[in-house]
Amino acid sequence: MAKYIFITGGVVSSLGKGVAAASCGALLQSRGYTVHARKFDPYLNVDPGTMSPFQHGEVYVTNDGYETDLDLGYYERFLGAKLTRNDSVSGGRIYWDVLSAERRGDYLGATVQMIPHVTNKIKDYISTPVDTDFVVCEIGGTVGDIEGQIFLESIRQFANQVGRRNVMFVHLTLAPYLEKSGELKTKPTQMSVRRLLENGIQADMLIVRTPRMLTSDERAKIGMFCNLPAKNVISGIDVDNIYKIPLAYEGQHVFDIIADHFGLPNAIGDMTRFEKIEKYLAADIPTVNIGIVGKYFDVPDAYKSLNEALFHAGIQNNVHVKLKKINAETFTPDDCADVDGILVPGGFGVRGVAGKIAAAGYARENRVPYMGICLGMQVAVIEFARNVLGIADADSTEFNKSATPIINIMADHDAADMGGTLRLGAYPCVIAPDSRAYEIYGTENISERHRHRYEMDVTWREKFEAAGMKISGLSPDGKLPEIVEIPSHPFFVAGQFHPEFQSSPYTGHPMFNAFIAAAAKNHK
Ligand code: GLN
Repeated sequence: MAKYIFITGGVVSSLGKGVAAASCGALLQSRGYTVHARKFDPYLNVDPGTMSPFQHGEVYVTNDGYETDLDLGYYERFLGAKLTRNDSVSGGRIYWDVLSAERRGDYLGATVQMIPHVTNKIKDYISTPVDTDFVVCEIGGTVGDIEGQIFLESIRQFANQVGRRNVMFVHLTLAPYLEKSGELKTKPTQMSVRRLLENGIQADMLIVRTPRMLTSDERAKIGMFCNLPAKNVISGIDVDNIYKIPLAYEGQHVFDIIADHFGLPNAIGDMTRFEKIEKYLAADIPTVNIGIVGKYFDVPDAYKSLNEALFHAGIQNNVHVKLKKINAETFTPDDCADVDGILVPGGFGVRGVAGKIAAAGYARENRVPYMGICLGMQVAVIEFARNVLGIADADSTEFNKSATPIINIMADHDAADMGGTLRLGAYPCVIAPDSRAYEIYGTENISERHRHRYEMDVTWREKFEAAGMKISGLSPDGKLPEIVEIPSHPFFVAGQFHPEFQSSPYTGHPMFNAFIAAAAKNHK
């Protein structure tokens, strides 16, 4: 059976439980253990797919087509884990399952109750089998939240059932610094830990977010009040880049604390993958400017995975990557004067599309490296149809129903396995051997994640290719264009999928790596 590390948070929300959990996982991986991640969100939405990106930031998509909140992205990136719909479970889904079972009569007339029916359902999800040594399991929200109570009860029961040696409770809190008295206050942490104890959960390790390292006196005090050894009280100090956190934990012997708890042998970790990132961050190397022509810039984290993927590609190319947010709704060519590469990301709805089309046209004509993602591919295709093929009213039916539909809903394609009406999750793509895409990926068969409704109509293929835009990636049945490129351009590549969801801080992603390489070459 896998061992579990549960992460809870207290005092305030947004302390970075996901990154803390992933960092603990990374320390285990650095000693050769395998780590999986799971997240429970107590809120009542059945899944996050319908939640506003304006409240929640990016919608992240797993291989199996589940729309999750962006924390799952941290886990996949940090740990290289491949997560599924069973690794992102909300309170709403738990109740939905329980109430549906009740309606079907599965409980055989028993009185359905929070304990045991809801707690059992939560424990079923917690213990969904997965082939791994450790599962880091985050409980969303803050200790004391009404919705979260039942999840705390469930992990308490779970630990009691599988044994305390198989479960570790890590609690994240905040120690605010009072400027006036020059003091770091530990009381909120004490209260939060006490709150957990009321639920029968003794924290085994505390990660205290603070602006500076805790002194040994402060750790001793927290340990004494919170009923754990002072050495298990860790300072979670603010850093300017999340990939420094595993090193910060390593420096505070977090692995040893985990190893002590689970009875693992001592082991020296191989932290080179994080040291490499730390070195890169401090390096005096050129900065490449990338213009992102988008429209969700006021929403923090709306382009989380995209920003990450560009950062990762910078590491691979040994250049810093600076992003220039270009508002698609007010786009003018001047916006691109100082950029080395242009990227049009995914998006929905007609707002800003004209600017994105203009940006793709600017990149094509001025031979500026261009990367298109999903909508970014669709606008590149529309622009090419209008300005190279001369089809003045070429469009997507998403934006104009009465124009010439180059981008359309391909109703007959695999409609059965499309979640709702979106094509969601990983789909295979076959790459033409004599293409830039092949140079990029180095293989003919790839799999990338999708989240869109519209597709380029493949019947236009000959006209596009004769005029210089090649369809270099297609679905295996040849019906859905997946990658387009302009072979005569220094770098003009766009995909119908979202490569950013598979980028890794340790290797980058082939398409982003190649795009940043082209932008670096174009750097003035
Ligand atoms: N709006 C487009 C579609 O639905 C593109 C979606 C996207 O960029 N993710 O096909």
